[in-house]
Amino acid sequence: MDIFSHVLWAYVPFRNKLWRDEGLLFAVLPDFGFLLIILYVLLGTPPLVDFPQALPKMPGVLLVIYFTLHSFVTLGVVALIVWKYKPKLLPALSGWFIHIMMDIPVHDGYFGTRFLYPLLPDLYISGISWVDYRVLAVSYLALVIVYIYSLRRERKKRVLRKRWKPDWIDRFHMKADALINRKPIRARDDKGGSVGRTPEGLPGEDGEGTGQGEDQSAGEVLPQDDGR
Ligand SMILES: [Zn+2]
Repeated sequence: MDIFSHVLWAYVPFRNKLWRDEGLLFAVLPDFGFLLIILYVLLGTPPLVDFPQALPKMPGVLLVIYFTLHSFVTLGVVALIVWKYKPKLLPALSGWFIHIMMDIPVHDGYFGTRFLYPLLPDLYISGISWVDYRVLAVSYLALVIVYIYSLRRERKKRVLRKRWKPDWIDRFHMKADALINRKPIRARDDKGGSVGRTPEGLPGEDGEGTGQGEDQSAGEVLPQDDGR
């Protein structure tokens, strides 16, 4: 998909979030592989060699980078690392996820989205190229609809304030927040009594806030306000 679509689609869920910049960065990151290929064609081949001619002679590593960045396998590995060391950044990775999802049906052949690379390096779906104006038209029309819906919802939310009832988007955000923060809710229900066992070393609890590293046993049970 074109880079503007990737940014605009990623901007829908990230618009009001603290991880907006990172989310947008992850949303365009996979096409860094494509940028390298374009640079190779522009700078690494004779001037009159066009794109299709240049591709077969291209160093294989460029395609490996492209496929690797468009793979859920890579994303999964990165997600595990992020969850362990910087879980607050985890929602931003959905920008990357959205990018791959968008590319799967609109790429084919040479640049078919190998979404399980390198486990299944030849698996991709033969889609309609995003260069087709019909694909772009549908995508941008859908973007307009989604943005209008989103803006109207936010305005309504501002007007109604406390009378606003959480809708499916709010509920989704709450679930995502709960999953990421992994707050030990049961500990609070004990009303200050001795708190039994709560999972130790919760990912992220020692990651960024205090970071001293020695309080993981003492601080394991306190519900955290992650400031989000
Ligand atoms: Zn892409």
